[in-house]
Amino acid sequence: MIVARAWAGKRYAVLGLARSGAATVRALVAGGASVVAWDSDEARRDAILPRKGEGDREAVEGADAMSFAAASPSVTPSARHLPLAGEELTIADLDAIDLTTFDALVVSPGVPLNTHPLAAKARAAGTPVIGDIELFAQARADLPPHKVVGITGTNGKSTTTALVHHILQTAGIPSLMAGNIGLPILAAEPLPEGGVYVLELSSYQIDLTQTLDCDVAVLLNITPDHLDRYDGFDGYAASKARLFAMQSPTNEAVIAIGDAPSAVIARGLSARGEHLTKIAPGVCMDQSRWPALQGPHNAQDALAAIAVAKALGVAEAAIDRGLESFVGLPHRMETVATRGGVAFVDDSKATNPESTAPALGAFARIHWILGGQAKGDDLDACAPYLDHIVAAYTIGDAAPLFFDLLKGRVPAVEQAGDLATAVAHAAAAARAGDTVLLSPAAASFDQFADYAARGEAFRAAVEGLP
Ligand code: ADP
Repeated sequence: MIVARAWAGKRYAVLGLARSGAATVRALVAGGASVVAWDSDEARRDAILPRKGEGDREAVEGADAMSFAAASPSVTPSARHLPLAGEELTIADLDAIDLTTFDALVVSPGVPLNTHPLAAKARAAGTPVIGDIELFAQARADLPPHKVVGITGTNGKSTTTALVHHILQTAGIPSLMAGNIGLPILAAEPLPEGGVYVLELSSYQIDLTQTLDCDVAVLLNITPDHLDRYDGFDGYAASKARLFAMQSPTNEAVIAIGDAPSAVIARGLSARGEHLTKIAPGVCMDQSRWPALQGPHNAQDALAAIAVAKALGVAEAAIDRGLESFVGLPHRMETVATRGGVAFVDDSKATNPESTAPALGAFARIHWILGGQAKGDDLDACAPYLDHIVAAYTIGDAAPLFFDLLKGRVPAVEQAGDLATAVAHAAAAARAGDTVLLSPAAASFDQFADYAARGEAFRAAVEGLP
């Protein structure tokens, strides 16, 4: 676990006890802070309470790792009881508590800062609202000498994060990836000297971070997404820009300038001179030896990863080997089966039209399954590739909208309603050489727990075909 000396004796309120929230509570307690934590889900509240003996062990491990003393946590699972001196963890509804006495309110990136009443209450109380990435930033001074790479953008963050990590591993450099990609950073074991922390950062995570000075900061693209959480597109773009505003100007910035807002951010950093690497769109590159990095979008991700690796001083030969041996991530253009010459491709991670477009560009004859919770009211980003579509099958909340948008523009479109029906109809219609592609251009939450569950449902439907 990663802990900061600076937390000792401080008081934190933590809202949200899923994976990163739970790791945050454990790290803060191990660092000697007192914590009041809450999650509206009772099971999550219960799960954070150490089973007998466990809390002591974790606190001791944390202390070992950082070689400073941390008291064993005592736990008070009472909603009416605020922590007294020496009590490290209290479960209590934060709505009922005065936040002015806390050093910070720590929230998970899933909490919408623009609409959540607790965020407003913290602002009114003058209490900073932060996330686990900010706590990591505070812990950096206590870690062995290391580098941090922060990667943001609307699309391609996970791919680029995983690729940078893979290149570093190929080069024999200790590294770990964390943040939005899944692993809560505070749960990680500190890297040895010379290690590189590769952080995937959503704009929500950047909003909750004030002092992360990335050695290399990367922006891949900015296209409309998540606009329910911002005051318009400019607010969303401004959130991405803060990753660079937090950085020392002599550290490295890598920005792909394929869209106007990213180009504006790059222009604003032009005074950085050689410390700014711009990635121009449409650069021709031989991608033939990178099986998991096909298509123009992956070229952008690969160029960004190459720029990061060079900035970190990785040898060119190791970069080449990393690009060649990268296997990609699940649910991003992942071929899950080939039956009778028909490929079934899971691109469930494509949750907006901009991320679906490259998948449509990658195949010639597509039976396209799309739909879910629409992020906007058009599919304009996909328009250049509609001539690759043999038939479209719309599902979920967006089924009628996407049906209307595609009718008359592709040879056939059907409101299939659910994923299993869409897979069955697409498989029946497809012939050898065709691709059945789940690339929904919409979020999954209307019918699934998340994009991964949607991808697994696609695989199960394919495997269940007669
Ligand atoms: P993120 O973590 O930002 O959501 P992923 O790497 O998981 O990004 O990719 C999400 C989706 O976006 C996938 O469907 C992928 O094919 C597509 N994608 C990947 N990189 C890019 C890019 N640079 N531009 C546009 N789309 C991309």
